[in-house]
Amino acid sequence: MSQLNEKLAVIMQQALDEAKTNIGGENASYIPFLASVSSELTGLAFVSVTGEIIQLQDAGYKFAIESISKIMTLGLVLEQSGADALHSKVGAEPTGMPFNSVLALELHQGKPLTPLVNAGAMATVSLVKATDKEQRWQQILNFQSLLANSTITLSDEVNQSEQTTNTHNRAIALLLESSGRMYSEPLEACDVYTRQCSTLFNAVELATVGATLANGGKNPCSGKQVIQPQNIPHILAEMVMEGLYDTSGDWAYDVGLPGKSGVGGGLLTVIPNIGALAAFSPRLDQFGNSVRGQQMIKHVTQAMAWNLFSSK
Ligand code: GLU
Repeated sequence: MSQLNEKLAVIMQQALDEAKTNIGGENASYIPFLASVSSELTGLAFVSVTGEIIQLQDAGYKFAIESISKIMTLGLVLEQSGADALHSKVGAEPTGMPFNSVLALELHQGKPLTPLVNAGAMATVSLVKATDKEQRWQQILNFQSLLANSTITLSDEVNQSEQTTNTHNRAIALLLESSGRMYSEPLEACDVYTRQCSTLFNAVELATVGATLANGGKNPCSGKQVIQPQNIPHILAEMVMEGLYDTSGDWAYDVGLPGKSGVGGGLLTVIPNIGALAAFSPRLDQFGNSVRGQQMIKHVTQAMAWNLFSSK
């Protein structure tokens, strides 16, 4: 391990030891499966742009990826259609509202503001080029696997739990359709969106996704160019603006790095040209962000002086 990463491993362990005593927050309760995951699980992983891996405690535990899937499908549509085509249909504006807000759809003539909240994410799923629902789904799943350098699979248990409780998302899909902002059958897009949230990743796989984004789209573990370099800044910009729901501004203010969280307890942070940190812990704050995950990543990125907005 390089000297830099030896120092990093020590700092990561300190961050984890501190965070694991934090009993703030609660598991997501609106999806029955997520409520049942042990609240005490805590994992932290780092993957560098050279493919070095550091993993601590529950970094091997598989959790539901949830909202973090949105950055991957965004990458897939950018690859298939290009940035301009996507941007004309799904915006790049922070909503300042909860991830499943329908109010946000009243702005910009119904155009979803960003691919990183549910409305824009479902519209983005509907833009994946496919002849039918199953082909759309297989492409998304395959893309998740390429980014993670691992065979990612759907959890039937999570998916069932979400498909039977996603009335609100189905309503959003129909609202989008009514304003001409869905590009495939709307409830089908909602179904595929729900599946993409129900795949399982561990923190090392998630950090590998982030390291690919940090490395100009080339997966440092497989050597495959998964995303073209010109598409990376669009993904990272969306993450800065909307990655941590309605506290994305606070994250930029405190941490200064692109991040994305999910209500399964995952939190990814990309350090361009260096690597990515992925944290997992199911206790969430009121906005849907992992409490321990935020604490660990803040600790590590501050100690490593990784804020993108600081002068060196
Ligand atoms: N499947 C969840 C939903 O759409 C994901 C939410 C999230 O992680 O933000 O409600």
